Amino acid sequence: MFEGLTSSFKNVVSKIRYKDDEKALKRAIVELKKSLLKADVHHKTTKELLTQVELQTKQNGIGQDSFLKALQNTLTDVLTTSGNQAFVYSNKSPLTTILMTGLQGSGKTTTTGKLASYLKTRNKKVLVAAADLQRLAAVEQLKQVGASIEVDVYYDENEKDPVKIALAAKKKASEELYDVLFIDTAGRLAIDETLMNELKEVKDAVEPDEIFYVADSLTGHDATKTAASFKEKIGIDGVILSKFDGDTKGGVAISLAHQVGTPLRFIGIGEKMPDIEPFIPDRIVSRLMGAGDVEGLAEKASAIIDEKKAKEVTRKIKKGEFNFNDFLEQLDMMKKLGSMKSIMGMIPGMGNMANQLKDMDLENSGEIVRIKALISSMTPKEKETPSIINLSRKRRLAKGAGLSEVQVNKILKQFKNAAKMAKKMASKGGMKDMQRMMSQMQGQGGMPQMPR
Ligand code: GDP
Repeated sequence: MFEGLTSSFKNVVSKIRYKDDEKALKRAIVELKKSLLKADVHHKTTKELLTQVELQTKQNGIGQDSFLKALQNTLTDVLTTSGNQAFVYSNKSPLTTILMTGLQGSGKTTTTGKLASYLKTRNKKVLVAAADLQRLAAVEQLKQVGASIEVDVYYDENEKDPVKIALAAKKKASEELYDVLFIDTAGRLAIDETLMNELKEVKDAVEPDEIFYVADSLTGHDATKTAASFKEKIGIDGVILSKFDGDTKGGVAISLAHQVGTPLRFIGIGEKMPDIEPFIPDRIVSRLMGAGDVEGLAEKASAIIDEKKAKEVTRKIKKGEFNFNDFLEQLDMMKKLGSMKSIMGMIPGMGNMANQLKDMDLENSGEIVRIKALISSMTPKEKETPSIINLSRKRRLAKGAGLSEVQVNKILKQFKNAAKMAKKMASKGGMKDMQRMMSQMQGQGGMPQMPR
């Protein structure tokens, strides 16, 4: 997410020694300025950052440690705005109502789905309302998104008044004890009077707990400008920066968090539903400093991974009973965690690797598609105990899955080896054995990643 900035910070810090003089500090500050501007951090934000880092480093004695600490503190200060962080439930009523606003194409409808999915994995009952009647396909799009994440959608194709739709949705949400209601409102290509009036009307009628503004990070500094404009005209409580995956520089997030004066709450990092992350300043700074975000990763995993199931899988692995059903379940869980790239970026020291991974799509890789096709042709018994698959069944399976017999054999063999390896790893002193097995396996044409 911030790989470019993280590596340039490393370079900046290397300009200054453990104990050093003012000249070295000046050199480091000049480098820092270059890095920030290159990453598209707004010049005003850059200026403030530089002034503070220089001042704080001097106060604590010039040297690498104090420079690092000053950079960390200053970044945290710049990214922190008073107001709520990530998602906050209403303290006034059991239902939390959120108005989703943004320009057309900013990612508003997608983000509405992402947030609904984010809360659903946290066991909340969520309703989304289709009150974007401006863009023809928006209602249909929301219906599809809702179906894909199994979240209820309120819509009324005969109603042309967004206020009435929003009110009816709120009534339904209260009566049927939903925890959260998201109202997807209309967007426009640019800010105009009609749009603002419509939003104001919806706002006054439903009295939302919070208004989120979705800003497209690909619009660069304009994202900050339009967010500020929405804030002035209708009042917003949070900004969500979408399409951050397409902005490799990362500076927009820093400028926006600093300049709008409204907290940046979430960042969208891909087109799929799990591709959204809460923006928590000290965690983001930890990533920027190359220290990963272990807390965020643990939180993400705990919302998705069922502890009981995880224990059961570990037990099975230890006994060598891990089967194809478990494999599919694990794959599904990985999918819910989001893109590989975003997970890697949260592991300390893996930021650079995340950069190299680009958009590796685990789910649609050729290997996984073939394995899934094979599994779907198996009988339930074969999925449970793959060892019962004999020669004639292998032929049948190959036909059923549209694979060659060689491919079927290869997959079954890989799976057997992977299960064996996982069992070894789970046992005492397993690492050594695993290394030996890994070297034996090389030359067999790769193996599926064994989910742990
Ligand atoms: P709306 O008009 O504001 O409701 O915009 P949409 O939700 O329809 O999104 C516009 C386009 O942006 C769609 O193609 C989305 O898939 C895409 N999109 C939305 N959020 C993200 C994101 O975080 N990353 C990427 N890469 N694409 C996104």
